[in-house]
Amino acid sequence: KGLKKYFPVTGGIFSRKVGEVKAVNDVSFEVYEGEVLGIVGESGCGKSTTGKALLRLIEPTEGEVIFNGENITKLDREAMRLKRRDMQIIFQDPYASLNPRHKVEKILSEPLLIHGIGDKEERKRKVREILEIVGLPGEHASRYPHQFSGGQRQRIGIARALIVNPKLIVCDEPVSALDVSIQSQILNLMEDLQGQFGLTYLFIAHDLSVVKHISHRIGVMYLGKMAELAPNEDLYSNPLHPYTKSLLSAVPNPDPDLKTDRVILEGDVPSPSNPPSGCAFHTRCPECMDICKEVDPEFKEFSDNHFVACHLFNDK
Ligand code: SF4
Ligand code: MG
Repeated sequence: KGLKKYFPVTGGIFSRKVGEVKAVNDVSFEVYEGEVLGIVGESGCGKSTTGKALLRLIEPTEGEVIFNGENITKLDREAMRLKRRDMQIIFQDPYASLNPRHKVEKILSEPLLIHGIGDKEERKRKVREILEIVGLPGEHASRYPHQFSGGQRQRIGIARALIVNPKLIVCDEPVSALDVSIQSQILNLMEDLQGQFGLTYLFIAHDLSVVKHISHRIGVMYLGKMAELAPNEDLYSNPLHPYTKSLLSAVPNPDPDLKTDRVILEGDVPSPSNPPSGCAFHTRCPECMDICKEVDPEFKEFSDNHFVACHLFNDK
């Protein structure tokens, strides 16, 4: 609710604060239990920061995170640490996120230790069990990360999130660092696990084609704001926001239910330390009107469960 994350920008020889980057700039949404909410946008739009702020791996500047009816924004460190048993994250880069000096055994039993789950024998058994669940042989627990391929390493990253039996997993571009040939294997695995364990995912991607099959609803972010949020089929068949339309028209392999009028955007994404006045998208929007340069459009429900922030849909 009203989530903001501003990072200070420092400069000069005294490293004084000279400005701020509005990485997440007043974003509100819900994630329903058992659903996959896809979040899509170009790099720098604030999607990873949003995901990390939900788990308070990054402290929000403002706003509230309500998890299972509990406001977790004010929990102290220890209470938050315990809460993370229910809220895990899978990182983008499976090469950087696994400690190269630790065996898989240690990497996977660490979360169990942190949360006081099981004795030594039980942890050993759980590690082997979870490896099998993500499609790796249990005896590979004695190996080091470098002995695995990128896809296998991401399976280990998934196992690490899964081993404490969480409710919510923030998946921060879990396939973007992988070879295209491996991506669908990992996506299928994640989809299976979601169904099998009744997990809730916040699934972050920079590409609409990645989230299309796995998401129940999709949110589109632009420059720290939520531009549009809708049920999956609705977003693809009836996109409202001009930015969503441009993203959809760029999906390379259009299927019949996609709108495919090609929209080419002019210019680059503006800097989040100096976002445009009014609608953040107005400098690139093919449908920009006078009001767009002055007034930031409200994010509101346009039709059933379909939210959009755009003046084109103000009075309807
Ligand atoms: Fe384009 Fe205006 Fe809508 Fe922004 S508010 S997306 S500039 S039409
Ligand atoms: Mg990111």
